[in-house]
Amino acid sequence: MPKRNDLEQKALQQIMNVGFEGILQSDLWRKLGASSREGSRIALKLEAKKLIRREKELREGRWTYRLYPKRVPASIDSIADCPCLMCPDNARCDPSSSISPQNCERLTDWLLLIAKGEPGTIGDS
Ligand code: SF4
Repeated sequence: MPKRNDLEQKALQQIMNVGFEGILQSDLWRKLGASSREGSRIALKLEAKKLIRREKELREGRWTYRLYPKRVPASIDSIADCPCLMCPDNARCDPSSSISPQNCERLTDWLLLIAKGEPGTIGDS
């Protein structure tokens, strides 16, 4: 049986891997080979450390929790279509100049699409 600290670390890793979709507590414990009692304790501990958040969810007539990471590590994919990467004005772009991220429509549009959950759509056609 794995040690509790190992399980805590593995649980956090799994929760971070699933990202913002979250994972059902019971599915996570099954994957890690932990009992639901042990798993609940770990989830509470991770929540107390502000590493995850738990949301109550009704599943097959029973209440359970879905676990979400508080933070998801940034990946290269997440910025692959950022307009700044291929921008012809990149070298002149500076917060103190007239070409600036503060007034850039392309950057604003891209950020708005990300906020709506539609990354990768700018310039795609
Ligand atoms: S913020 Fe706008 S102008 Fe500046 S580099 Fe990015 S896309 Fe180009």
